[in-house]
Amino acid sequence: MYPRVIIHLQKLQENAARLVGFLAEKGIQTVAVTKVFGADPRILKAYYDGGIRHFADARIQNLARISPAYGSRMLLRIPMQSELQQVITHADISLQSDIHTIRKLNEEAKRQDKTHQILLMIDLGDLREGVYERGEMREMAKEIASLSHIDWIGTGTNLTCYGGVLPTKENLTQLLETTRWLREETGLSLPVISAGNSSSLYLTEEEGWPEGLNQLRIGEALALGTEAAYGRPFLHLHTDCFELEAEIVESRVKPSMPIGTIGKNAFGETPVFEDKGDRLRAIVAVGRQDADAADLVLQSPCMQILGASSDHMILDAGSCANAQLVEVGKTLRFWMNYRAVLRAFTSEYVDRYYEEPNDERTN
Ligand SMILES: *Cc1c(COP(=O)(O)O)cnc(C)c1O
Repeated sequence: MYPRVIIHLQKLQENAARLVGFLAEKGIQTVAVTKVFGADPRILKAYYDGGIRHFADARIQNLARISPAYGSRMLLRIPMQSELQQVITHADISLQSDIHTIRKLNEEAKRQDKTHQILLMIDLGDLREGVYERGEMREMAKEIASLSHIDWIGTGTNLTCYGGVLPTKENLTQLLETTRWLREETGLSLPVISAGNSSSLYLTEEEGWPEGLNQLRIGEALALGTEAAYGRPFLHLHTDCFELEAEIVESRVKPSMPIGTIGKNAFGETPVFEDKGDRLRAIVAVGRQDADAADLVLQSPCMQILGASSDHMILDAGSCANAQLVEVGKTLRFWMNYRAVLRAFTSEYVDRYYEEPNDERTN
């Protein structure tokens, strides 16, 4: 079935092993974030085989797919009060920032006769989730410490998500100091300091990663091989774990300028065209519902993506010396960025093909 995403399991397993090892040497625990591939079971296993023992996702439906036998399961998105029952059932740890929710979570944990671990989120200025002000932290700390079925294990922060604020030695040291202050205030050990996502990684390669920051929640670097502050490849991780493959359904020479009066296209945009005369064009059976053309890189250098509607992508193939590449029924491959992988795994129209470790060794 096409379109399909080709998943290179061996490379994903190697990424997991390399990153877990690298961070462990620095005293940092790797929590693998699975939301970009919807906690796909085969990828979970590759990560597990690569040494991952801590998993996290933003959606409770994805967490429910992760076997407790693989290790701990962390809920990343501040939970809705309407899902607390599932949070206690499917998550061992959750990120929290609202005292009313934490109170209700304690009641639900008690009902299910479980102890639930939480990290209190601290906002360092990115202005997404987290407590911002020490007065409020002190109030919350007092109450959280008194809850019978909540095990408060530490603090966390999230950067480069809404405000685009980069993690730096300065703001991460602030997280460390705030946590030390909370330890003094409460007398709790609060052993975990969860210092962000793939955008914090670049700091681990530099001098002076603040000692005591001991956890990172990593999605992008494991799956795409890049850190998220500057989008650079990190630690020679594989950046080619995912490809999109789609099939050509029409191939024909046509004018490069549409004929008629130009109005708006299907997405309300007014398209602009360059007149290159008659050109060989191909239509590929993949569209915006499956992946945005801007998030894909075509692996055939003689072709160029002209545009896409919901279900069709149009290519210029006028520079291809070998017209066989563009025959109806042939397939084409694309490299995918983070957004493309995310969308492919949430679209029910995109099939999944797993490249087994043994297949790859012969390549
Ligand atoms: C998505 C997410 C992450 C992982 O981010 P990456 O940039 O993919 O590493 C970490 N923490 C939270 C709270 C998230 O929502």
